Amino acid sequence: MPGKSPQWDHPFFKVLAKNDTGQARGHQSGFVVPIPIQQYLPVIQGQPCKERPSIAIPLTAHLYAAGVRLGEVRTQYQVQSWGALKREHRITSALKSLLGPAIKGDILLLQRKADTCTAYRLELLHQDTPQHEAALRLAGTRRWGVLDTRKVPESFSIELEIALAHEAEREAEDFVLFDDAPGINVSVVKKVARSLAFRKGVLTQYGNRCAVCSIGLQTPAGLYEVEAAHVVPRSEWGADDVRNGLALCRKHHWAFDAGLFGVGDDLRVFVPPSVMVMPANKSLAVLHGKTVLQAVDIALRVDPAAFKWHLDTLVYKK
Ligand SMILES: [Zn+2]
Repeated sequence: MPGKSPQWDHPFFKVLAKNDTGQARGHQSGFVVPIPIQQYLPVIQGQPCKERPSIAIPLTAHLYAAGVRLGEVRTQYQVQSWGALKREHRITSALKSLLGPAIKGDILLLQRKADTCTAYRLELLHQDTPQHEAALRLAGTRRWGVLDTRKVPESFSIELEIALAHEAEREAEDFVLFDDAPGINVSVVKKVARSLAFRKGVLTQYGNRCAVCSIGLQTPAGLYEVEAAHVVPRSEWGADDVRNGLALCRKHHWAFDAGLFGVGDDLRVFVPPSVMVMPANKSLAVLHGKTVLQAVDIALRVDPAAFKWHLDTLVYKK
């Protein structure tokens, strides 16, 4: 029975239903992920809608059947809707070697690879095997959940809630430009949660629009093109604080990080002359002198120290 190791987080499980296995007619080559264990899988952003009924994120799956390695595949974790009410999360595609021989009542064990968010170990435990019996002793009558309830895997949604609460708390504190805890020992799940909370905070404050060009492309499924840029970058230990954040479209995020423009203390875009004269940068040159959008909440506007650091440190001098 696999447990937590430096490589794998604690296991969670599902007792497979007929529909999850090769027994089902019109089998979709995947299995349904019930709500209580969705928290141990990455958060899917956006909502499925009529125009785009499913949203998927790629996962790497290391497949095992009772301890024997079957191989490594690229699979998908997706949320799908059929009409307004029925929504379903599934892990689907490329799982035939694992689920094809499975029958109702077999147990599927899932474990996240410790150093990533998108790789999982999926192990099928056939009924009437010692591995299945051992898992059943821990599972009892439950059909899904954490296998050993004393050993809970890291939860993406709980960490996100904590990060959002922390984000709300720090708004009341004085702004600190650099994170004193750069998070060397912080788990990858916590890092993802913090960056989602930061993104959510920044995008909300700027109405999901680029602070420089005001463009805010979005999909009918509710996904936004605009990104949450760090004014002082994470690589320089810039804080995951909305006051160190700016909503920027991809093009302007890239240009901002590359130092092609900065923001002065008058909140106007500064494009250095050496950048401005290049024919390739015409679209940027016209933004010189334009006032950037600010956060809706006055207390959450970019701290002037952050813009100054960026201008002094990253933007071309001439
Ligand atoms: Zn833009």
